[in-house]
Amino acid sequence: MDFSCFSKRGKHKGPNQDWMGAYIPKDPITLRQKGALFALADGVRSNPGGEVASRLAVKSVLSAYYAFPLPDPTRGLQTAVALANSQLVYWSMVRSNLRGMSTTLTVVVVQGNELNIAHVGNSKAYLVRCNQIRQLTRDHTWTANAIAQGLLTPEEAAFHPWKHYLTRSLSRQSVIIDISRVTWVPGDRLVLCSDGVSDFLTPHEIGWLSMYPVRKAAKALVEIAWLRGGRDDASAMVVLLGW
Ligand code: CA
Repeated sequence: MDFSCFSKRGKHKGPNQDWMGAYIPKDPITLRQKGALFALADGVRSNPGGEVASRLAVKSVLSAYYAFPLPDPTRGLQTAVALANSQLVYWSMVRSNLRGMSTTLTVVVVQGNELNIAHVGNSKAYLVRCNQIRQLTRDHTWTANAIAQGLLTPEEAAFHPWKHYLTRSLSRQSVIIDISRVTWVPGDRLVLCSDGVSDFLTPHEIGWLSMYPVRKAAKALVEIAWLRGGRDDASAMVVLLGW
């Protein structure tokens, strides 16, 4: 398994509020039982401390997932994301400068021949197979809900002023975590990206760019999206699946 990740700060005054983390255990028993973990978080810019929220979420989920005692990726992920959320709630209560901080979080555990996905917010996970791209996550945004209810078309939603309004994010007292599972085959590519990438590339373009040599693919996705957008932080991770 090989992967690359790349992030670029948007043209704004603050710090990059995206954060990514990955862990592929070297110990073969841990790798077989727990799998490898890939995570991406996008701190919410309208709140203070978005960069703290995204970093804390990724670091918390990494340590909590591998500390979970059972070799059960679904329950391990659910518990780890819930613990990451508790950490964010705690620090946003005790530190006045972090009050209201929040973040998206998308985590994928590759274990056996399955991808176990935990997701909150509007970052994206895709699976690319033979030039076919499939989105593994559902956006938790006001516009995604409006599309599902037939109130907006995807074309109208793309330019809607509320398109970044999140209906779910980490650092709320109670958060519903989407958990799902899909199978993969060797040669598939897993893509994680923030909306600084997915807002400026079509799924077809993301699928095509992810087929670059894996060490260059994340940078290619980010650089091209950033050239088209550039105001938001842009981050991507590309994993070539195979043991
Ligand atoms: Ca963003």
